[in-house]
Amino acid sequence: MRRRVYLDNNATAPLRDVAREAIDLAMRRADAFGNPSSPHAFGHEARLALEDSRRQVAAAMGVEPGDVVFVSGGTESDNLAIQGVARAWTAAGRAPGHLVTSAVEHPAVLECCRHLESTGWKLSILPVDGQGLVDPDAVRAALRHDTALVSIMAANNETGVIQPTEEIAAVTRHAGVPLHVDAVQAIGRIPFEAARVGADYLSVSSHKLGGPAGIGALWIREAAPMKPLLLGGGQERRRRPGTESVMLAAGFAAAARAAGRELERAHPSGLRDRMERALLDRLAATRINGIEAPRLPNTSSLTFPAVASETIVIRMDLEGFALSTGSACSTGSARPSHVLAAMGLSQADAASTLRISLGPTNTLEEIDALVETLASVVRDLQASARLPHPAPAGGRG
Ligand code: PLP
Repeated sequence: MRRRVYLDNNATAPLRDVAREAIDLAMRRADAFGNPSSPHAFGHEARLALEDSRRQVAAAMGVEPGDVVFVSGGTESDNLAIQGVARAWTAAGRAPGHLVTSAVEHPAVLECCRHLESTGWKLSILPVDGQGLVDPDAVRAALRHDTALVSIMAANNETGVIQPTEEIAAVTRHAGVPLHVDAVQAIGRIPFEAARVGADYLSVSSHKLGGPAGIGALWIREAAPMKPLLLGGGQERRRRPGTESVMLAAGFAAAARAAGRELERAHPSGLRDRMERALLDRLAATRINGIEAPRLPNTSSLTFPAVASETIVIRMDLEGFALSTGSACSTGSARPSHVLAAMGLSQADAASTLRISLGPTNTLEEIDALVETLASVVRDLQASARLPHPAPAGGRG
């Protein structure tokens, strides 16, 4: 059978067996199909199952379950945090205020902030250094009397660079400004507890942990400002109307619990570090983005100068390896990565950057095979890039 190795876990992680089993069980339990808001026994059973899932997700986030709101995923969680705070701000009779974020955030955060900017909010987008790090002093300097929220991610999806959220939280707490942390890539990959870090809002997504897509969560510190974005019923303590999916929540919870147990057992950067060392040995010009910063143990952002990473991804796919370019790709057209640009990479280097994101099931054999195949593909493409190009037909001859 053809080899297929999945190394794109930051895009989405394969569904864990425990998550599949939990969803299956929730589907088959005849007494658990009720609406969790219904007052009868069917509803009560569904409510018990939902609250059990909430407790497990909360444990993975290091927070109290009562403050965890189930939403449709990381994007909605970011939107609810940012726009929910903005709505609460203006609902209190104030003019639109000021938001602070960074240049390397996920579009779910950046686009949200830019949308608010178009409605009268002021926006400070902080730069990062060459390693992709936000400076907590820059956060302090950006704060104004009317800053309603600071939103900084825990770990970057393209580079894995981990932001100094504890230091940033110390700054925001001192100033009395709420902090939202997009921890979509961090929860389940590094020990991260919102309450200890000092965040006020924390976003997480199930499918990045090996749970089903279509569910995520936002933790909201008790009494932190928030107004829902959707209008409807009073579910999720009036923060997110709509009937909850007991089945998706069960899968999310099982995946979060399994990811938490893995974290207790091992620090899984061994395979990633071995891969990076082997690639540097074979391809001397390779650069690892964010290498001097703390990084997620599963993520590697690699620049192979003068080779188009899109071509590498296609060639590697033919060889059975699923990798990703460093560029955000939307509506079918590749755009240079805003993350790499913010770190100072040229457009050419950004277009030569590949993301490899490992998962808990990747093996040593897979990584060794990846290194050999990738080194040979890159060498091949570098050699053809050096060949003189034939003159175009009808050219100067
Ligand atoms: N935030 C970060 C850092 C992400 O990496 C992603 C997904 O790639 C999201 C938010 C959005 O999450 P979802 O795909 O669950 O909407």
